[in-house]
Amino acid sequence: MLITHDTRCALDLVVDLVNTTPEGDETDGLPDVAALDDFARKRDLSDIGVLSEFDLSAVRKIRGRFAAVFAETDARTAAGLINELVAAAGTTPRLTDHDGYDWHVHYFAPGASLADHIAADCGMALAFFVVAGEQERLRRCEAPDCRRAFVDLSRNRSRRYCDSRTCGNRLHVAAYRARRKEAAG
Ligand SMILES: [Zn+2]
Ligand SMILES: [Zn+2]
Repeated sequence: MLITHDTRCALDLVVDLVNTTPEGDETDGLPDVAALDDFARKRDLSDIGVLSEFDLSAVRKIRGRFAAVFAETDARTAAGLINELVAAAGTTPRLTDHDGYDWHVHYFAPGASLADHIAADCGMALAFFVVAGEQERLRRCEAPDCRRAFVDLSRNRSRRYCDSRTCGNRLHVAAYRARRKEAAG
């Protein structure tokens, strides 16, 4: 499937957003408005304006909905979740070639709140995975103590861990130790 620069940015954004969700006794990755502002500005989201507590709670709410999309294996259920996210945000599709990028479509309405901006553009990026029959690429890490979201862009959809250098590797080490222990015993 064709993944344009902007789709890629939207995917990275939604994965980063879902992964700010506190798991277990972790602290929230978006603890306050300043952290949200930092999160948005690091990702060059345009037209953000001044953020408030309202934005923080709205973004946390859609974060939970996006997390549900990544946890969902059934395409129909995922489609329903994405439809709700995009419908609540409202969209104004328009072609743009800003900042030297090729023509692509922005979905967020002009003046949209940060949460609506993210819900519209990231929701549509995920929608195209469902359309392409590629919803299973929206995954959560299979390492036992890790539930991080990621998008599997490998050719044969074989990626199981969020980051092979940490989770995948940690499991390999554990399996190696187990084998060695077995051999020794
Ligand atoms: Zn763009
Ligand atoms: Zn992981």
